[in-house]
Amino acid sequence: MRRSARRRRTVTAYRENGRTIVLIPAAFSAAEERRWVDQMVAKLQTREERRHRNLASDGDLMARATTLSDTFFAGRAVPASVRWVDNQHRRWGSCTPGDRTIRLSSRLRGMPEFVVDYVLVHELAHLLEASHDDRFWALVHAYPQADRALGFLEGIEFGRPGTPSGTGAGDGPDDDVEGPGALD
Ligand SMILES: [Zn+2]
Repeated sequence: MRRSARRRRTVTAYRENGRTIVLIPAAFSAAEERRWVDQMVAKLQTREERRHRNLASDGDLMARATTLSDTFFAGRAVPASVRWVDNQHRRWGSCTPGDRTIRLSSRLRGMPEFVVDYVLVHELAHLLEASHDDRFWALVHAYPQADRALGFLEGIEFGRPGTPSGTGAGDGPDDDVEGPGALD
């Protein structure tokens, strides 16, 4: 939150390096400030959800994966393809390091952007480290919302027994990593 003496009536909010910045007039009271911060944060979320719905095509997904790789892995994770699949009910995502392909379950489509980003980051990390070892988790935790997203996905799995695991929560240690020739 930043107060500005020059601002009279307008309130602006935006994200900066993962933080939410709300600009409000210096003259606002504490109560007005609280109300506006809540309102602007809600507005930002709506805007981001709209953007999330734009992650509709495989091309959008590939572009998003490239951005995440650039941001968290210095561009070292380079997938050959990233696509939505409808036939993945047990896992949120999967990766075949052999041919560098990544698939995301279409069940993720309605979920918040930070969750979809987490699954992308998780599968991208498998291009650098195939197993779920310490090195792998260190890579994944470069993504600041990894634990929050894991909690979100585990909550869904807990609520619906017998549906997806993999990608983080899990059954077998490598159950979202597929060997060459194991393509679905
Ligand atoms: Zn995995």
